[in-house]
Amino acid sequence: MKKGFSLLVILLLISCAVKQKGAEGKDATDRTSSGEITITANDIKKSMEYLASDELGGRATGTEGIEKAAIFIENYFKDNNIQPYFETYRDSFNIEEIIGFNIVGLIEGNDPKLKKEFVILGGHYDHIGKGKEVNGDTIANGANDDASGTIAAMEFGKYFAKSKTNKRSVLITLYSAEEIGLKGSAHLAERLKNKGMDAYTMINFEMIGVPRTADKSMAYISGYNRSNLVSILNQYAGEKVLGLFPKAEQFQLFFRSDNFPFYKAFNMPAHAISTFDFTNFDYYHHVDDEPDKMDYTHMVSFINKMIPALEGMINGPTKEVVLTENE
Ligand SMILES: [Zn+2]
Repeated sequence: MKKGFSLLVILLLISCAVKQKGAEGKDATDRTSSGEITITANDIKKSMEYLASDELGGRATGTEGIEKAAIFIENYFKDNNIQPYFETYRDSFNIEEIIGFNIVGLIEGNDPKLKKEFVILGGHYDHIGKGKEVNGDTIANGANDDASGTIAAMEFGKYFAKSKTNKRSVLITLYSAEEIGLKGSAHLAERLKNKGMDAYTMINFEMIGVPRTADKSMAYISGYNRSNLVSILNQYAGEKVLGLFPKAEQFQLFFRSDNFPFYKAFNMPAHAISTFDFTNFDYYHHVDDEPDKMDYTHMVSFINKMIPALEGMINGPTKEVVLTENE
């Protein structure tokens, strides 16, 4: 190979890399595989700064703050053409004297046969309200837990409502009363089961606001050995976005998030996906779990890497994601 020529090629290659790196560093505006719909750090930040604001008081179930959060999510659904699945967006339930409500949106599938099957994507939009006081601050804002997962589910909804690339129908489900015993997801799972829904998989996004260290997979799922979800999603992502996190088993995370009631009700693959690994975030259920602690470049990158993975699973010719016995 001629010397001069190779130097030119190398220079070109370096400039491309720098460009990509630059864009990520500055304002992480990424384009999805279709090139049309962009997921931007600004959009995510806007949602985060409202949902995890002091004004919403930590979004405890039954409070004024969570009502404001619900209205915000409903308006987001309306603005992005995500339809109500029931009469309204709200799936209400009672916990003694408290009324809770999940928010449920639908993006109907475009395939005459596969649209009868549903993929459920979710996050919990409630939090604990008040936390242990720190310097006079008592509001547990719940930015990472779980406004981050809520926003990821909202952005996936926006993507599919705009791209209309989903063959199966997609439900975007934001849960209330997760912090008081997975009550919201238990209610919805039962209701959809009783309705006879043909549910394929459920994925719950839980605490995806901060990155793991570079030597680890970007994210992990709970209940790793309970289905082949990781291999299927990584295959469609074209890279290993998801990996094994041994502590997830040790801490029994599979039973501690809104995926579990769906696993119980439908006996189908239902998992939580997270980037929180107990070493990378010190503010779990803490008043400092605030929007300024979130890494928006990471959130954009995670959401964008998950889109082709979800799209591939949602459009697979058969139900290739299955439960596996070797728990
Ligand atoms: Zn949570």
